[in-house]
Amino acid sequence: MTDYYQVLGVPREATADEIKKAYRKLAVKYHPDKNPGDSSAEKKFKEVSEAYEVLSDDNKRRMYDQYGSDALSGAAGMGRGGHGFASMEEALRTFMGAFGGGGGGDSVFDSFFGQEFGGGTEMARQGVSKKAQLTVSFEEAASGVEKEIVVTKYVQCGQCNGSGARTPQDIKTCSSCHGSGYMHQTRGFFSMSSTCPHCHGSGKMISVPCNDCQGIGKVKKKDRIKVPIPAGIDDGMRLKMTGHGDAGEAGGPPGDLYVYIRVKPHDIFTRDGDDLILSLPVTITEATLGCKKEIPRLLSKKPVRLTVPEGTQSGKVLRVKNEGLSNVHGRGKGDLLIHIQVETPVNLSNKQKNLLEEFQKTENPDNSPQRKSFLDKLKVFF
Ligand SMILES: [Zn+2]
Ligand SMILES: [Zn+2]
Repeated sequence: MTDYYQVLGVPREATADEIKKAYRKLAVKYHPDKNPGDSSAEKKFKEVSEAYEVLSDDNKRRMYDQYGSDALSGAAGMGRGGHGFASMEEALRTFMGAFGGGGGGDSVFDSFFGQEFGGGTEMARQGVSKKAQLTVSFEEAASGVEKEIVVTKYVQCGQCNGSGARTPQDIKTCSSCHGSGYMHQTRGFFSMSSTCPHCHGSGKMISVPCNDCQGIGKVKKKDRIKVPIPAGIDDGMRLKMTGHGDAGEAGGPPGDLYVYIRVKPHDIFTRDGDDLILSLPVTITEATLGCKKEIPRLLSKKPVRLTVPEGTQSGKVLRVKNEGLSNVHGRGKGDLLIHIQVETPVNLSNKQKNLLEEFQKTENPDNSPQRKSFLDKLKVFF
């Protein structure tokens, strides 16, 4: 098992700041732009990024401290198969996050990269992440389903491949900063540098913009996305569709799409976690004498056979093992919980009333133990 603290070279009691500093140093050292084609650097970069991803998040760090990295593979669940970053993209995203993730000219990212990577090139930024909502039926949530949603998002312009220029020859070096992306100003003893306002740090100017995207490098597009919804999903859960957000800037990775799930209520079933709940009304004679009932299954025509034992009280919960919902993380199934509701009969005929009155004459305290114990407790008041 990987020791994330060791990977970053920090003690276990390191502060968030120390962790960030350690990560930045290592990430810059092993960054793929600095080590092209070096697979061991790439591996290191992924490793340190993964360690930082965990240790920089209070919740994940606490889980990791208590249970190790195995505890996190389930929690990360939907986004990622196991632990370890599957792709460079993911590692790069962590990297961007640690460096202030694509902001203005004065971010730490700039000061690192301006020097480290030759300066002047516009920094890669992840595209904007998007949100969508999807409503499924109770049954679909139970069985799992694939749904298609339509999302309007920015994709890279196919005409100019994202450059924003009509032709590659229409990309010129910025005349204000001479391609550095920075403007230097000297005031007395102080020399200040800031992002070039004319080219926004890219060092380039477009003389003739692309017709399709008007120079933005991106175009709006309606995208149909198939969303695999796992069995057992619950109302309010969120699915992450990696890479389905807006296109990134200057070669940065695309944003993600977060799909928020709404589950429609069911007529007879509700749920509590993975347990399926059903209220079953029974008559006083059924509850008293016992009975057999067939309970409908949510996803199959074959009913569950249930025995309501003799003398079942109202409010009693009967549990049928493994007839609940699938766990959304694939950890088995919940149970079916049947809440017994004994219904007091109404609209009685004279004959029925007479029969009950006859029955009443035969009643003795042992027929109603709860009532008997209640009356015993009441005695102290008199
Ligand atoms: Zn410029
Ligand atoms: Zn274009």
